[in-house]
Amino acid sequence: MSKSAGLLATASRRLYPNYKPAPIVFSRGRGCELFDVDGRRWLDLAAGVAVCSVGHAHPRHVKAIADQAAKLTHVSNYFFNEENILLAAELCARSGMDRAMFCSSGAEANEALFKLARRYAYARGETRTKIIAFHNAFHGRTMGALSMTGTPKYREGFGAVEGVVHVAYGDLEAVNAHMGRDVAAIIVEPVQGEGGVLPAPAGFLAGLRGACDQHGALLLLDEVQTGMGRLGRWFGFQDTGAKPDAVSLAKGLGGGFPIGAMLTTEALATALPPGTHGSTYGGNPLASAAARSVLSILDEEGLVSAAKANGERLSAMLGSVAKDLPTVCESERGEGLLRGLVLKPGFVARDVLPKLADAGVLLTAAGERVLRFSPPLVVRESELAEGVAAVRKVLVEVAENAK
Ligand SMILES: *Cc1c(COP(=O)(O)O)cnc(C)c1O
Repeated sequence: MSKSAGLLATASRRLYPNYKPAPIVFSRGRGCELFDVDGRRWLDLAAGVAVCSVGHAHPRHVKAIADQAAKLTHVSNYFFNEENILLAAELCARSGMDRAMFCSSGAEANEALFKLARRYAYARGETRTKIIAFHNAFHGRTMGALSMTGTPKYREGFGAVEGVVHVAYGDLEAVNAHMGRDVAAIIVEPVQGEGGVLPAPAGFLAGLRGACDQHGALLLLDEVQTGMGRLGRWFGFQDTGAKPDAVSLAKGLGGGFPIGAMLTTEALATALPPGTHGSTYGGNPLASAAARSVLSILDEEGLVSAAKANGERLSAMLGSVAKDLPTVCESERGEGLLRGLVLKPGFVARDVLPKLADAGVLLTAAGERVLRFSPPLVVRESELAEGVAAVRKVLVEVAENAK
């Protein structure tokens, strides 16, 4: 029996089956490559859902984590730690925001946004509790984040935190119809990630900013997937005319080490005073050092501008697949290195993934019919070409079988 088979047998009995993983057991990676316990290689163009921004086992990321682990991993929020202070300053410098609060995941970062918005209104003696979110939005799996998530099947059977309404993504009129003195905030992704790699229509984010300004509500941006260089700029809101009041980060922030963050403007610095919110692990020195090393690798290797250039190359490659295989493909879309190949109605992206994995390439599905590319930002053009060639080959077979 292979090592994989033995582990998979244990997994089937002992892991809680809330996920449905492919039957592959990974043990190591390097750059955009992953290897299973039996030594087989895959090309990873998913990066663990846009997480491993500097690739697997980047030597400087590894060293930063190892060095910090040897010095100090945790102290609690009753004290400061050097790495965390420096990380806060570095994130604010890149984003133009003023304050940073840390946690360990994207859902937690969005819980913080949710609580921030309500508490800000409360502190000013206002009765604003309504949060406007969007259909197909994904904000995480905890109850507050789940309530803002716009896919009913994720919420089914769990109930919801009251006061969240969902409107169509891109529909400013629908948003404006809901605006009023009861609205605490609008929360939005600059590109809907899980919902299907759907970029905000031109002017939409700026329109939301305007609506918030007009009605005294906060604009909250969920940049858990789009932030940290993924779109070919540091943050998705940059160059959109929609500076947020607060923004959530996670995924690419730690490059694989769990960390999330909420960045806010100075005006919101008093909204969550001591005692109102926190997290045991938030901002611990180990997570902070991991994130600081991601920032410095992105800088020194020019990976944010590389994400833009490689994103354009990937877009061209996917565009030609879509053009050549019109019976299976509808279009390609996205920004930077968050891109989707949209399949025609009737095709299910999730069903294509095992065939791709058999061909040695890892992607994820977003929505029903989108093959999502979210490779490490260190990806080379030759690796993108290798991945797209495999996708093309698999989709040719899918087209044949559909005849
Ligand atoms: C993944 C994701 C989340 C949730 O992050 P977790 O770390 O899984 O809690 C929230 N928002 C967006 C946009 C995401 O892509």
